[in-house]
Amino acid sequence: MTNTLILDGKAVAQARRAILREKVAEFTKTKGRAPGLAVVIVGHDPASQIYVKNKIKACAEAGIESFHLEKPATLTQADLHKAIDELNARTDVDGILVQLPLPKHLNETEALERIRGEKDPDGLTSANLGLLFSGRTRVAPCTPFGVMKIFEHYKIDVAGKNAVVIGRSNIVGKPMAQLLLQANATVTMAHSKTHDLEAVTREADIVVVAVGQRHLLGKSAFKKGVVIADVGMHRGEKGLCGDVRLDELHGWAQAMTPVPGGVGPMTIQMLLENTFRLAGGKI
Ligand code: NAD
Repeated sequence: MTNTLILDGKAVAQARRAILREKVAEFTKTKGRAPGLAVVIVGHDPASQIYVKNKIKACAEAGIESFHLEKPATLTQADLHKAIDELNARTDVDGILVQLPLPKHLNETEALERIRGEKDPDGLTSANLGLLFSGRTRVAPCTPFGVMKIFEHYKIDVAGKNAVVIGRSNIVGKPMAQLLLQANATVTMAHSKTHDLEAVTREADIVVVAVGQRHLLGKSAFKKGVVIADVGMHRGEKGLCGDVRLDELHGWAQAMTPVPGGVGPMTIQMLLENTFRLAGGKI
């Protein structure tokens, strides 16, 4: 039985935050202002309120200025676009984040597309996804970028490996596959229409699971020595858990991210680093 290496995303994020804080302080001294992130929240979704609070706290830890814009749930699409346009024009705002989900009467895609690519720290506008997919990345979407940084930190070389990404959303699966491809992995994408998912994942050296189904996969889905990044996040009575039954994988996987404390903390860290990059900072 081999020991499974726990890929401690929380510790990696903390270490990176300390480095970022120093770089931001230097930037602020030289430029006479801190990098700025504007967070727009529409309505009162309780989960969104918590996410926004965490993002603002993380900004403060890194020395990034945050601007919190709370808009009523009755906001019209035109007024949302007006608010985004104003932020697009501000010189003290380097990144704009529209917290999702938006109330049902608002079109999320149109709202996100309103953010200028140069001010999109989530990397989710078609401008930034286009740059990523054509190999001219400005900023990569935070969650898959965070997974790559965890692999980098633990010196998990993905080049030439068989990597399977489960899930094909614009926010995680698709950019994840692209980043692995750029790092020279041989990439397979699996999704809800894949026949015999476990037969596909059992061939993989690296599996990134971004499905959104609590405890979907266990030991039978993985070959011995696999590296697993579990992106899934589910809140239950016993706290957070992921898409993988990680307790079955101890001694079987070579390495895996825990939930909580794996991919989640890295997502926020990447948001801060992307904001710093958009401000012109180097990290
Ligand atoms: P999504 O619902 O947009 O996409 C889910 C994907 O999984 C789809 O592409 C679908 O084809 C695939 N899928 C669904 N059922 C499947 C099945 N049975 N077998 C194989 N594939 C299947 O979700 P998303 O936004 O990509 O998020 C996925 C999960 O990651 C969610 O649990 C979400 O909460 C979590 N998430 C976590 C973070 C983080 O920071 N840790 C960030 C974003 C998303």
